[in-house]
Amino acid sequence: MLKLPVYLDHNATTPCDPRVVEAMMPYFTQQFGNASSRTHSFGWQAEEAVEQAREQTAKLIGAEPKEIIFTSGATESDNLAIKGVFENYASKGNHIITVVTEHKAVLDTCKHIEKKGAEITYLGVNADGLINLTELEAAIKPKTVLIAIMYANNETGIIQPIKEIGALAKKHGILFFTDATQAVGKIHVDVNKDGIDMLALSAHKFYGPKGTGAIYLRRKNPRVKLAAQLDGGGHERGVRSGTLNVPGIVGLGKAAELAMEEMKNEAKRISILRDKLEEAFLRLGRTMVNGSRINRLPHVSNISFGELEGQSLMMSFHKDIAVSSGSACTSASMEPSYVLKAHGLSDELAHSSIRFSVGRFTTNEEIDYAIQTVTKAVMNKRELVRNILE
Ligand SMILES: *Cc1c(COP(=O)(O)O)cnc(C)c1O
Repeated sequence: MLKLPVYLDHNATTPCDPRVVEAMMPYFTQQFGNASSRTHSFGWQAEEAVEQAREQTAKLIGAEPKEIIFTSGATESDNLAIKGVFENYASKGNHIITVVTEHKAVLDTCKHIEKKGAEITYLGVNADGLINLTELEAAIKPKTVLIAIMYANNETGIIQPIKEIGALAKKHGILFFTDATQAVGKIHVDVNKDGIDMLALSAHKFYGPKGTGAIYLRRKNPRVKLAAQLDGGGHERGVRSGTLNVPGIVGLGKAAELAMEEMKNEAKRISILRDKLEEAFLRLGRTMVNGSRINRLPHVSNISFGELEGQSLMMSFHKDIAVSSGSACTSASMEPSYVLKAHGLSDELAHSSIRFSVGRFTTNEEIDYAIQTVTKAVMNKRELVRNILE
């Protein structure tokens, strides 16, 4: 039996995998210790669980356990990376390069430090959503201390040329930070092969719990040093004070282990579902896929529905299908997606877009239902538009 609504918004968040919940459970009740308690077994057990999760998380991105610092999620990791580098490397320079299609956690952090004397270059993207490497290299100055470019975009799933960016950063002796929140656990990410110095990830984007994430900090060639943003007990090598969220961290570790084991087959399965959905919408005509269809996560499809308004189209089926539109409600007005605008889309086309993101528990039956429902809604809306025009 099909259960409604069908959830196709996995880039916003994912359900916790029941195996993750099961792993977390004991750490709320019996094994509730503070991982910093050194004087009894409650503390030792908690610490052991945290260290196991550190290993599981590190393994997923090809890092060493010591290079993983637990945080409350990717927003915190993004803040920590950018503000931490800006403050710690102030004597070297104040220039940071990023991209206009970054997540708000990166863009707003950059805006914040601009007021404190940082100089930020915001690179644009082409119609595919990709940066230009020549432009990136040309933007580098003697005072550049950081390149902050996301691994994969949350709205479109577009994957940037990370390995090439990493090589450029290395060549110029600049740190490279990537917000890999959408990529980790979905595609193979390797901090060494990709030349990444810092990386942000978040458990709830790959079937782990909300409110738990990590930042990867390279310890060798180069050794990254960040100015901490929270003062306190000096947890996590002094980079992130605060009593560790042991159950959350255990959940992150378990989610990482599951992703490691299942990512490859899962990506294959859900990319077939995504393609089926996408092809059905393309057959409707006057629809288009936003961004590169090659350099893209396997489970995401961002579609513009031509003359139709995405928000109102979505509202006509939101009781049955949960998705996101390419507009963001900002208090009173409806702003078209800045990501799609950066691709060169008109306000109208950006407004007409909807993001579909498939996940681990999405079934073929759900995809068939989504195709039927959205197709019907598009037909109805087009009929309405035609009647108004006649
Ligand atoms: C979801 C997301 C974030 C924010 O992550 P939280 O853990 O929810 O703070 C940051 N960057 C990207 C690319 C995201 O998709």
